[in-house]
Amino acid sequence: MVRVRIAPSPTGDPHVGTAYIALFNYVLAKKHGGQFILRIEDTDLTRSKPEWENMILESLRWTGLTWDEGPDIGGPHGPYRQSERGHIYAQYAQELIDKGQAYRCFCSSERLTQIRQEQLARKERVGYDGHCRQLSAADSAARVAAGEPYVVRLAVPDPTNGSTLIKDEMRGVIEFLNNQIDDQVLLKSDGMPTYHLANVVDDHLMEITHVIRAEEWITSTPKHVLLYQAFGWKLPLFMHMPLLRNQDKSKISKRKNPVSINYYKEAGYLPEAMLNYLALMGWTMPDEREKFSLTEMIENFDFKRLSLGGPVFDIKKLTWLNGLYIREQSPEQLVAQVHDKVFTIEKLAAIAPLILPRIEKLEDFVDATSYFFAGEVSYDEAAQKALIPKGQTSKDAIKTFEAVLEVLDAMPVLVAQPLEAALRELIEKLGLKAKEFFMPLRVAISGRSATPPLFDIMAIIGKERCRSRLRNVIGLLKQTKAA
Ligand code: GLU
Repeated sequence: MVRVRIAPSPTGDPHVGTAYIALFNYVLAKKHGGQFILRIEDTDLTRSKPEWENMILESLRWTGLTWDEGPDIGGPHGPYRQSERGHIYAQYAQELIDKGQAYRCFCSSERLTQIRQEQLARKERVGYDGHCRQLSAADSAARVAAGEPYVVRLAVPDPTNGSTLIKDEMRGVIEFLNNQIDDQVLLKSDGMPTYHLANVVDDHLMEITHVIRAEEWITSTPKHVLLYQAFGWKLPLFMHMPLLRNQDKSKISKRKNPVSINYYKEAGYLPEAMLNYLALMGWTMPDEREKFSLTEMIENFDFKRLSLGGPVFDIKKLTWLNGLYIREQSPEQLVAQVHDKVFTIEKLAAIAPLILPRIEKLEDFVDATSYFFAGEVSYDEAAQKALIPKGQTSKDAIKTFEAVLEVLDAMPVLVAQPLEAALRELIEKLGLKAKEFFMPLRVAISGRSATPPLFDIMAIIGKERCRSRLRNVIGLLKQTKAA
């Protein structure tokens, strides 16, 4: 029985990388009549938000990769949200302490900082020095009873000479020296587990057979293997998919590409095209054709055809592929889609009060609102000038726009009032005058210098499109800077 999972952390926008990894898990499950599980890894309480979780679920639903068990639908191995499984991790951490495979560490953060600085100065590997490993069970229990805060760490076996082998089904066996593996924290002082402990315990209890995840987790795998061994559990098979990359081959980043699934959904990419494109990032059909459906992929799926090369996420190619899917629609389907997704009643209703005072004939509506519906907007000469406040350089303007990108990024959705508050806070932080800030921003977002209130229009245009226009403007300013 094949059981696989996608285990996103709800700490930001739903990422295309999550859809990409989910796709390969889903396909493997369907190929073998197995199950695909969705688990939310929200043990980082400060960064996890329910809004992000909802968005992740919604965007995965949009892709059509439906899961068989998950936080929204339950299942026999629930709960599927790690923040609700605290008691389980505590119990397993205790089991490891009892077996001598883990220990309580009472070191203060000052001590940890100090050893870190010393290690850096000596150019040694930075990691815990094992100080609390020697504590006797009685000492440890006494300090707990006295109310001292502690974390639980894994006691890496044979830390001087040992090594840990991991087997990746695509890459073969990789050896890690145990002296390079930290006595990592399993349970934090607030009682929450770290990623490593929660991930391994859950994969075991949820009977996961294949762990298919992104390459960036490869260095975590020896830690996981040590945990499986410490518990005496059977290992799942591991497969690490190559990371999606920017054109310059760096790891895909939101500075260079739209990485949120919401962007593609809102821009009107079709989920079928998106999945087809993501499939091409790591796999080829036996006949090497580029356009294929999910069903065809499942029918033809074979791990041997997975590729390890760093796939470049090329939005132009995705757009080309999407065009092939769009053109397969009937005119009726196209009308229905445009009606449902572009000129929606909700969007028109939100725009109407802003535009009402500004038009004289109904047809004026079209020109007055084009920037609400268009993908990117263009910037004529006057607009390009207006992007840079008087007395500032294009470099200054780039910095400001980048700071706005960050502010937008932290908000799950743009709502006029909190957006205004956050941007005013930013103006203060940057020491700018309101006018110097809002006019260039208005122009960047709309291509125009006169519009209804900026925060209202940004809320309607939406986070993803605002971000993509800001990215374009930054690109434009970089070009003018270079010229
Ligand atoms: N929570 C991890 C993530 O955000 C899961 C990695 C894994 O699949 O083990 O991707």
